[in-house]
Amino acid sequence: MPGRMSSALAFFCAALVAAAPAAPRARVVIDPGHGGAQEGAISPDGQLEKAVSLDVARRLKAALEHAGADVLLTREQDVLLALADRVTFANRSKPDVFVSLHLNSMPTRRLRAKLEGVQTFFLSASASGEDARRVAETENADSAGVGAPQPTDTLAFILSDLRRSESHADSARLAYAIHSRLVAASGGSDHGVQQAPFYVLTGVEAPAVLVEFGFISHPEECRKLARPEYRDRIAQAIADGVLAFLAQTAVRDRRPVASSTPP
Ligand SMILES: [Zn+2]
Repeated sequence: MPGRMSSALAFFCAALVAAAPAAPRARVVIDPGHGGAQEGAISPDGQLEKAVSLDVARRLKAALEHAGADVLLTREQDVLLALADRVTFANRSKPDVFVSLHLNSMPTRRLRAKLEGVQTFFLSASASGEDARRVAETENADSAGVGAPQPTDTLAFILSDLRRSESHADSARLAYAIHSRLVAASGGSDHGVQQAPFYVLTGVEAPAVLVEFGFISHPEECRKLARPEYRDRIAQAIADGVLAFLAQTAVRDRRPVASSTPP
């Protein structure tokens, strides 16, 4: 499936070779949204967000492994997993990148017929717009009763998290690296890189994004999402974005070592 050697991938491999033998393999944690009793959104033709996100997660894992990365999934099967447990799993795994996979859905018939396309998020204490707030509320709803921060604690928790996080700027760079490739690969509408208070990104000690890789509620986009070759294309675009980010980061993070060398 991931046969094409993209320029990002080639650069990433070159960076790994240049850094060998000291550089460990990059590690990526992929988080397929929802699972078990929490099905997420449902398409007009009966596809479940939890199943499509898991399938694309497996394809993304294969694409990244093909490029030499270590990849872990927060859930390998159709099981219920609390948002807090996804964060705990990620931090124990000490990844270089965390990617949560979801599908958008609209509540009314008019909006379901209208909205399609892709959107990529990174964490912020406040949403970057009304649409970003809606998406975060929808995805955060899964956390009810399963270990998420209490609403009154959330803002303080996120603020303290952002203060101690060195990964926030990297999360933004990761989001843009993925999003531009996702827009090109999907051919769908560009809903932009947005920021919002997602529980599943809060506390992750790595560059972290949440990708809404389509509107499962749209009558035509859901048919695209059902096709294996389209899922491969989406997974490869996300993988290319992750690999481009890792390549940039590898180059940047070697600079202090070089500049500290005595002349
Ligand atoms: Zn979702």
